[in-house]
Amino acid sequence: MDDPKDDRAGLGTRAVWSGERGERWAGATQVSIALSVSFRYDTIEDWLEVALGRKPGHIYSRNTNPTVAAFEDKVKDLEGAEAATSFASGMAAISNTLFTLLAPGDRVVSIKDTYGGTNKLFIEFLPRFQIEVALCDTTDHQAIEAEIARGCKLLYLESPTNPTVKIVDIARLAQAAQARGGLVVVDNTLATPINQRPLELGADLVVHSATKFLGGHADALGGVVCGPRDLVGRIYHFREINGACLEPMSAYLLLRGMKTLHLRVRQQNENALRVARFLESHPQVAKVFYPGLESHENHDIACRQMTGFGGVLSFALHGGFDAVKRFLPRLRYAHLAANLGAVETVAGPPATTSHVESTPEERAASGIPEALIRYSVGIEDPDDLIADLRQALDGLGGVSAQGRSGK
Ligand SMILES: *Cc1c(COP(=O)(O)O)cnc(C)c1O
Repeated sequence: MDDPKDDRAGLGTRAVWSGERGERWAGATQVSIALSVSFRYDTIEDWLEVALGRKPGHIYSRNTNPTVAAFEDKVKDLEGAEAATSFASGMAAISNTLFTLLAPGDRVVSIKDTYGGTNKLFIEFLPRFQIEVALCDTTDHQAIEAEIARGCKLLYLESPTNPTVKIVDIARLAQAAQARGGLVVVDNTLATPINQRPLELGADLVVHSATKFLGGHADALGGVVCGPRDLVGRIYHFREINGACLEPMSAYLLLRGMKTLHLRVRQQNENALRVARFLESHPQVAKVFYPGLESHENHDIACRQMTGFGGVLSFALHGGFDAVKRFLPRLRYAHLAANLGAVETVAGPPATTSHVESTPEERAASGIPEALIRYSVGIEDPDDLIADLRQALDGLGGVSAQGRSGK
């Protein structure tokens, strides 16, 4: 295990080489997919040494597995963390982290704009265990600080958020929570470690849905949490007991995807900014949300804490949900699907994607217009994406005129 603090290699080099130095069958250059539930020992002494954690090795794949460990090492190095542990999905990573660190009587402070599944944990599941959750307006930093001052065992943040890509000041809020003895957890799924490293901004733990940008090819589910060895060890212990472990085959697919993470994300940053600027100039578009635009309400914070603005943007059409239904099927280069962070562009309304679990009232309370479209930019040529959006928008003429006259 390399100590990332001693590793002066750039993020691109780490994306390719981290986690790749383990033992290989017959000298294979690629990490082997260890499709084995358990690992055999020739002597009881050896078996016992490994089982007691006195020697490195693997016993049973619900606990650890060599392919899964290589994936954890790669993410850990990219986030600059001491340790990482992985899960069957992003939601498993988030649930395990929260249920490990919280107990009855604790208080959580978070924001209204967390991922739909995370929001359900906050409003439906944690309160059943007498855990109080205060959900604040996402960009009201003073209100979040005021809630932290009332008590905060854990501050849970996401930035940029999904789908309206709001930005929260991670360093400022982390400092406020830690001054009250709180732990700070950040979901870094939309930014990726290429664009934002929350541990360097003061967070205690980083969680990811590896399903999205880390894997990047929309063919494997996975989740991961990174941070200091003691905290990650506690979360790992809960996961080995509840069994939400990552599959070796998925670990391999995610590992392979991550070797091009830096190339994909750089292209997606560039594509998203060009697409966002085009959309902002189009008369059929009512509003564009992208942290790289000067019009974004927290563009200054984004410039401070991110090195790129990410591949996800959203925009609202004139003409309501009816316009959305007519517009989306016209796109040639976009899957209409509930995913993001893939090499292909993916588009969909929050009502069927990130916030399918929410009621229309809850979506409205989170500031999500019904005519909003989430657009996760792929690695295609940006000119083709812009031409595709232009033809789909131009085809909406009538509805848009109606929508605008109704305003
Ligand atoms: C998708 C997503 C999750 C949940 O991840 P799964 O792998 O689908 O369980 C959590 N947070 C964010 C920001 C996401 O986009």
